[in-house]
Amino acid sequence: TVRTRFAPSPTGYLHLGGARTALYSWAYARHFGGTFILRIEDTDLERSTPEAVQAILDGMKWLGLEHDEGPFYQMKRMDRYREVVAQMLEAGTAYHCYCSPEEVEAMRERMRAAGEKPRYDGTWRPEPGKVLPPVPEGVKPVVRFKNPLDGEVTWNDVVKGTITIANKELDDLVIARPDGTPTYNFCVAVDDWDMKITHVLRGDDHVNNTPRQINILRAIGAELPQYGHLPMILGPDGAKLSKRHGAVSVVNYADEGYLPEAMLNYLSRLGWSHGDDEIFSMEQFIQWFDLSNLTASPAQFNFDKLAWVNNHYIKQADNERLAALARPRMEANGAQFDGAPPLPVVIGLLKERTNTIVELSDAAMLFYREPQPDAALLTQHVTDAVKPALAAFAQRCADVEWNKAALSAMIKEVLAAHGLKMPQLAMPLRLFVTGQLQTPAIDAVLELFGRDVVRARVQKFL
Ligand code: GLU
Repeated sequence: TVRTRFAPSPTGYLHLGGARTALYSWAYARHFGGTFILRIEDTDLERSTPEAVQAILDGMKWLGLEHDEGPFYQMKRMDRYREVVAQMLEAGTAYHCYCSPEEVEAMRERMRAAGEKPRYDGTWRPEPGKVLPPVPEGVKPVVRFKNPLDGEVTWNDVVKGTITIANKELDDLVIARPDGTPTYNFCVAVDDWDMKITHVLRGDDHVNNTPRQINILRAIGAELPQYGHLPMILGPDGAKLSKRHGAVSVVNYADEGYLPEAMLNYLSRLGWSHGDDEIFSMEQFIQWFDLSNLTASPAQFNFDKLAWVNNHYIKQADNERLAALARPRMEANGAQFDGAPPLPVVIGLLKERTNTIVELSDAAMLFYREPQPDAALLTQHVTDAVKPALAAFAQRCADVEWNKAALSAMIKEVLAAHGLKMPQLAMPLRLFVTGQLQTPAIDAVLELFGRDVVRARVQKFL
């Protein structure tokens, strides 16, 4: 059975690359009815923060990427790592090394000077028949992994194809520091083993770690997972996606008014494809997702495309849900909802043309604030030629049936009677009723505001 994991280091927010990794690992597990595990790799005490853990959990929750096991925290697994270190020492797959950091640096320096690749020279590496130096007093040793000296490590990367690294390129990795704390690659290997991970999907910045982890997994007798290293996500300018490109935290996208389903749909296509399909549900994605269609070349983030996808999902979304998302921002901007048209109805009128909830909230404001038309615009649009028509309109507002069709017919009659064209009446009406020139269709706007508000506002400005 398939067991995947997402293993973020809590050193910042959940960025887009991380979210995509999580999405693929999640979808792969779901595809097979397997298990998706969340593991927090928090051993870097200097850079890990509880806020970052929370940001990751929030991001995962917003996207709906539910884990089946975890979250596991590496800091809570220290005893287990120590236990495995002890077992490896016992089995002879790891050994104590008493070289001081200065000695190791000096040995590397010598090799660099000799034109060799700097590495640990194996001073303390036990070999049959070899006599080790006397153990210096008062020195706490590190524990090193006894990496194979010959041969190579090969794996068939599900994204990048076959990758081969010669063992002599790999040092005898320190797996435990003098104070006994385990090191990064070792923890990952032990975790993947203990958590019975079958497929590791992660960013390709980890390619160099993989042969080290594979050797450790072999040494402890673990079955190897399959590895897939996803290329990074590039910004629109082709450089690595970063803060410069705007929001890089997934939760920022929530703040900017993107829907999680749009984000998921968009991210799913950044490094994977199913023909030309662009818009699909997560159910569909789970059904389609497999490792053979992962793209090996880096994907470029396209904000316009994301906006387009978001617009699609906004159009599909329930108006009540959109209203609930729009309301807080509108309240913060001083919206007055009392006596105004119901927000879901307004949203229904506006959502066709908006790309984000933020845009939607801002567009909807015109129904929830006192209009303050610009004086110059009033002068420009409320000319002597149209004033009689506006007065006639105001009068007919008293008894016209209050619905779009009747309002539209009435406006046409007024226009005909005064020899005017639509914009000549619609523009001043928009200014009077909403304070702005850009609004949805005038009949729809008038209908929504209701007879009393429209009459009062037209009278006020005439
Ligand atoms: N903690 C690593 C990171 O955040 C991921 C390690 C892994 O997936 O193996 O980049």
